[in-house]
Amino acid sequence: MAIDLGFVEKCESWRLQSRFFPSKVGGKPAWLDMKNIPGKDDLECDYCGDPCVFLCQIYAPYEEDANTFHRIVYIFVCKNADCCRPNQNGNLKIFRSQLNRINDFYPAEPPVEQEDWRTDIDVLQWAKTCHVCGILAPNHCGKCKVVNYCSRIHQVYDWKNRHKDTCGIETAKNSDSNFLFPEYEIVIESDDTAKENVEENDSKSEQEEVKKYNAMLQDGKLGIQNENVNDDLLQMANDEKDETFAEFRMKIDNFPDQILRYDRGGKVLYISSHNQITDIPKCQECNGERQFEFQIMPQLLNFLNLKDVIKSFDWGVLAVFTCKQSCIPIKSKYVREYVWKQDIVQEEVESRINQNT
Ligand SMILES: [Zn+2]
Ligand SMILES: [Zn+2]
Ligand SMILES: [Zn+2]
Ligand SMILES: [Zn+2]
Repeated sequence: MAIDLGFVEKCESWRLQSRFFPSKVGGKPAWLDMKNIPGKDDLECDYCGDPCVFLCQIYAPYEEDANTFHRIVYIFVCKNADCCRPNQNGNLKIFRSQLNRINDFYPAEPPVEQEDWRTDIDVLQWAKTCHVCGILAPNHCGKCKVVNYCSRIHQVYDWKNRHKDTCGIETAKNSDSNFLFPEYEIVIESDDTAKENVEENDSKSEQEEVKKYNAMLQDGKLGIQNENVNDDLLQMANDEKDETFAEFRMKIDNFPDQILRYDRGGKVLYISSHNQITDIPKCQECNGERQFEFQIMPQLLNFLNLKDVIKSFDWGVLAVFTCKQSCIPIKSKYVREYVWKQDIVQEEVESRINQNT
């Protein structure tokens, strides 16, 4: 069965607003349910306590179910590099939001793709959002009382970096901050041209594959740009002949820029035979089974403008598991879902990196 692949593309920012139900990377989250958005307490990093920052969202309705006529899954990540721990997910937060076709926020008919269409459909009609990061914002600037913040950390950040010069001039709406990741649309295409025939690929000579892999690393296409790490990874690929890794590389070969693989109910494409998920926690809302829905690929790291790649967060794959029923949220309109972060960095490689730093 064909799976869907996602690619990033630059596009005008108005197209990425809530009213058009976007799949996107970076900028502020385009909230689906605009009344009950998550705040700092929901997004606190397990390790440092800072609010995690919006990474991406995938618009993925269940077409067969009226209650999931609109449905978006959101991923947030802590920006502190120290919180990025191999094969640990405490620096990542996942939410699912869904709406019936008939709802409080959007017309039942599809949106008209025009910049000036229904600009009143905006989260600011319903909730105060953080000027820096776009999550729920209970605090405001004491001087102008116009701009709002999720937390003291973001208020201080904004004051230092910008708001001390713009306090009194700025409205709550205009804000674009270097704090956020660069914004892109995620364009989703069906992977039916890539039949992913492993057998066919098996006949390629191993040397050829290593050469290709090396080239990909040099192009930064694997998202891991530390040269030392690269050498180690290449070494590992050669030495251990990790079949899982070889398969991973082969499957992305036809579309090396893919940042998303969407395969609801399918299987994770692991990057390594180590640290695969064995136990998927049940849905916190209905206690039902969760299933694999999609994974974010390491290629996305190349689009995030990470200034210091070595001291930055990264991942091998982010595999997202969601409630199989996509149950109707009752306790919270943004249901927490589960992410498995698998890293390619092995203990051996890690210890070498530690020695180097
Ligand atoms: Zn953190
Ligand atoms: Zn904030
Ligand atoms: Zn102010
Ligand atoms: Zn559920």
